[in-house]
Amino acid sequence: MENKYDVSIIGGGPSGAFIAEKIASEGYNVSVFEKKDTIGEPIKCAGLVSTRVFEICNINKEKIIQNKITGANIHSPYDNCIRIGGDRVHAFVIDRKKFDQTLIKKAMDQGAKIHLENELISAKKIREHIELKISKIGKHKCNLLIGADGPKSIVRRTFSFQEPKEFLIGIGAEIENSNLNSNFVEIFIGEKIAPGFFAWMIPTNNNGTRARIGLCIKSNTKKNVKYYFNNFIKNKITSKYLKNIKINNIIGGIIPLGPPKKLYKSNVMLVGDAASQVKPTSGGGIYTGLLSANFCSKVAIESIEKNKFTKDNLKKYQKLYIKNIGGEISKGMKFRKIFKHLKDNQMDYYIKKFQNKKIIEIISKYGDIDYPSKLVPKLIKKSPSLLKTATNLIK
Ligand SMILES: Cc1cc2nc3c(=O)[nH]c(=O)nc-3n(C[C@H](O)[C@H](O)[C@H](O)COP(=O)(O)OP(=O)(O)OC[C@H]3O[C@@H](n4cnc5c(N)ncnc54)[C@H](O)[C@@H]3O)c2cc1C
Repeated sequence: MENKYDVSIIGGGPSGAFIAEKIASEGYNVSVFEKKDTIGEPIKCAGLVSTRVFEICNINKEKIIQNKITGANIHSPYDNCIRIGGDRVHAFVIDRKKFDQTLIKKAMDQGAKIHLENELISAKKIREHIELKISKIGKHKCNLLIGADGPKSIVRRTFSFQEPKEFLIGIGAEIENSNLNSNFVEIFIGEKIAPGFFAWMIPTNNNGTRARIGLCIKSNTKKNVKYYFNNFIKNKITSKYLKNIKINNIIGGIIPLGPPKKLYKSNVMLVGDAASQVKPTSGGGIYTGLLSANFCSKVAIESIEKNKFTKDNLKKYQKLYIKNIGGEISKGMKFRKIFKHLKDNQMDYYIKKFQNKKIIEIISKYGDIDYPSKLVPKLIKKSPSLLKTATNLIK
């Protein structure tokens, strides 16, 4: 079968579904090819998002939100702790499967064609269009190809975009019988718990007895991620929350960090995890992916209207991305460079330094999980000695 569509999107995750909806709502032809047979499964996510996510994608949040998070306890490797927030809702815990399925339904309602169990096998540029080979459908042509195909993107590889600078390896589980504060996330850092990143406990119900727990590690550790997960459950610091838990299902996944310098080439754009549009400080990619998807869809629609899909017509996507979120992601990568080299005693030292009423007040007031760098000038203004601390860290 051979068809010609305006836009083909590879991947039916949040980024791909959102772009499909936007383009289809303007009356243009758009096809989404998704290799899995069910949208949103298997889940590879802890489901913690900022309140902005629902402002972008305009869906009814009531059926998707499982819990509201007002604060976080951050535990050092030696269990010194800082408690931040507690004042207002900073984040939502979502049912990720329902979220993905709602986004894809919205795209279908606008007329986007969703092809499940259809994997992109290969793609090449032929004159002014892209020719795709799709597992079941076969040959398919499009004017514009959007790679929303996740961390191991085949679109990224096929069109020689830069690969991510780093992949984090993640593992998680849904648990019962936990003993958590229902509105607080517990975060644990340290070489023995989660080398190169952190571990989390996210309550999913309003009495803290159900939760999502997990951790991510850098890719070059001596032990594998399952080892750290088993250790996390039995650990002295974490056991008070996890004694007698029942583990219902274990998930795994990877998180790409470090976006490519260019997000577009003639007739092709990358978005979401495929473009490593992920916050390097938290690994969260739903907000950053949707925000970028919004810009990607705007530029795609303008290109369809002009019937021009050259590099020059697509470069506006890059500009919008950098202005609105790319700058923040770059700052996050700089922070990560420092964080991943910290030793346990240094982490403990800085957590203790932050156990200060003045500092905690500033973090609680200005802390923003989507734009953490905005906190830095506020902190330095309130507590200038932190500038010296930061300089020492960079050294
Ligand atoms: C352990 C873990 C915890 C996380 N927790 C959070 C969190 O709490 N909050 C948060 O914001 N983010 C979190 N993330 C990140 C978040 O899950 C991703 O950033 C988000 O899913 C990216 O959406 P996407 O649409 O860009 O890509 P994806 O959701 O990965 O979707 C890509 C889609 O493309 C499909 N695909 C891939 N290759 C092909 C192909 N060749 N042909 C057809 N289809 C293909 C895949 O099947 C998939 O459905 C977490 C990730 C992990 C691994």
